[in-house]
Amino acid sequence: MVDVSRGSALGASGASELFQLLRDGRPRTRAELAETTGLARSTIALRVDALMDLGLIAPVGDAVSTGGRPSSRFALNPGARVVLAADLGASHAVIAVTDLTGTVLADHRGAIDIADGPEVVLGWMVEQGSALLAGLGRQHGELIAIGIGLPGPVQHSTGRPVHPPIMPGWDGFDVPGWVQQHLQVPVLVDNDVNISALGERAAAWPDAEHLLFVKVATGIGAGVISGGLLQRGAQGIAGDIGHVQIARGAGVPCHCGNNGCLEAMASGPAIAAALRSAGLETRSGQDVIDLVKRGDVQAIQAVRQAGRDLGEVLTACVSLMNPSVIVIGGSMAQAGEHLLAGVRELVYSRSMPLATEHLTIVQSTVGADAAVIGAGMLAIHHALSPESIAAMTA
Ligand SMILES: [Zn+2]
Repeated sequence: MVDVSRGSALGASGASELFQLLRDGRPRTRAELAETTGLARSTIALRVDALMDLGLIAPVGDAVSTGGRPSSRFALNPGARVVLAADLGASHAVIAVTDLTGTVLADHRGAIDIADGPEVVLGWMVEQGSALLAGLGRQHGELIAIGIGLPGPVQHSTGRPVHPPIMPGWDGFDVPGWVQQHLQVPVLVDNDVNISALGERAAAWPDAEHLLFVKVATGIGAGVISGGLLQRGAQGIAGDIGHVQIARGAGVPCHCGNNGCLEAMASGPAIAAALRSAGLETRSGQDVIDLVKRGDVQAIQAVRQAGRDLGEVLTACVSLMNPSVIVIGGSMAQAGEHLLAGVRELVYSRSMPLATEHLTIVQSTVGADAAVIGAGMLAIHHALSPESIAAMTA
């Protein structure tokens, strides 16, 4: 279960104080709430009633007060509402319904072609999401937000994709506006790497304040969590490390128009192409992984070199943000320890000792589901934010 109480990477809690306190799931009495918040008992009573009316909190057991009189304790009611989470990839998608703690209640996996355009893909998403809700016996009215991850750059403030290279027809498309014509709830959109970072952190590293999630697949990108918060940067492309030039790449053209980019040397297709020119029949990153799993020495060496290439760029990232955890995810992470060995070799030998003293570099443990979990977190964070709760209780 994902525990949202451990501090969300999406921001701090403030007003609607009471609910923000109770979100951690720990039952508290009215007296405890009054003491923690400094609010009057009468104010607490009113707010508890309002949250109870919404079903967002519920009484949990009974506590014996000092006077021996039982006093009710309250906590978040995880099943009070649900959110829809969608991880839309280039060729596959995962749709899930989660409760307010991020626990997946039902999910659906299917093949899609993101190049079919937004109406087709989002229409499919709405259809599958509605079917999941119906299957759970939940009404549309119980849905409070939708989180969507897309395989390209997204302007987070508007939810519109910005020049996404593999998503024809999506550039500038009003994703939230379109989805809201069918499901009238807030729609949050972000790129797949950012939501994977959120999901990986929530599910595997809830206490890590400084975490870098690196996706190595057809492309290469990173999700940056610094000071406990997801960092999107000024234009939303923080962590876009795929087009940093590396020494070994001199003269190798990249699809971005530059030469020598990390992505042109260490992505799945790049490793496959290098092995192909050495005479192997590798058409894709998956072919490379299959060869590595069969113990092919050439493929293993190529993957390890890709790890060193990644490590070269990550060494700079380590100097810049001093993370405590670097998680390597994406499909090429299935190449396992060989990729990681290359990354560790470079990062540990090139970084300042203090920066790596407590640095953990690991393969993703959450795997492909990190993205859909993160999309759920995005939706929950919005739906349970002080502003949203204030609007619901108004
Ligand atoms: Zn490039």
